[in-house]
Amino acid sequence: MSEDKREKLKEFYFQIKECMECELGKTRTNFVFGSGNSGAEIVFIGEAPGRNEDLQGKPFVGQAGKILDELLLSIGFNRSDVFIANVLKCRPDENRDPKLEEINKCKRYLLEQIEIIDPKIICTMGKYSTQLILNTDTAITSLRGKVFRVENRIVLPINHPAAVLYTPSRLAVLKEDFQKIKMILDNYENPGNISSLGDLAETGETGVASATGSFGLEAAASLLSDSNSSISAEKGPAVSAESDLQKSKNEQLGLF
Ligand code: URA
Repeated sequence: MSEDKREKLKEFYFQIKECMECELGKTRTNFVFGSGNSGAEIVFIGEAPGRNEDLQGKPFVGQAGKILDELLLSIGFNRSDVFIANVLKCRPDENRDPKLEEINKCKRYLLEQIEIIDPKIICTMGKYSTQLILNTDTAITSLRGKVFRVENRIVLPINHPAAVLYTPSRLAVLKEDFQKIKMILDNYENPGNISSLGDLAETGETGVASATGSFGLEAAASLLSDSNSSISAEKGPAVSAESDLQKSKNEQLGLF
């Protein structure tokens, strides 16, 4: 199963890696597809590649990545347990904010990756990925730490790890939110327990994504605590033999 997803992701990567749909294609060093476990139960979504990511072709390899690694470790995970991607695949010049038209051109790549990986949980990190996935304009400050359901997945918005670089006290909040991620994964088969995480607010319908076009995850995010969730858990990846050559190719691409 996981091998199948990995092959699909790889195929998708080769289809889109030369993308020139927006101006960022002209200035990038590398197209940053995303990396990690193709059969991951959880996908983390950041904003866009920065300088280091652009140079190395992998997401979160700079300072924010170190914080993300520390947070993952705090719940017993490392990068090969999860999949990490961004809203944009190419670096915006001078690390400026993504533009709406760039997001709208690029979002189909991310949404297709989510379809292929089919994770149980999507953890959106920061404003851009949160507003895209929840299809809302609501500020991240009022969404962070709440648990949403979009279609058959759980969506948990958290602060972007880079926020810790400017405000170190935010690390404690992020650590709390990572504990919540663990709690959700541990209780995935018992949605009632997850609902007890509580007090959730509806999202709006005029998000970054819908402002100029259609959105991939159609359903408006719903309150998990209101829903009679019928989440169906998919069991973990089956492992099968692969050639060493194939393995090292996958590792180069950052796909496990
Ligand atoms: N910040 C992001 O949002 N993504 C990266 O890949 C690196 C930093």
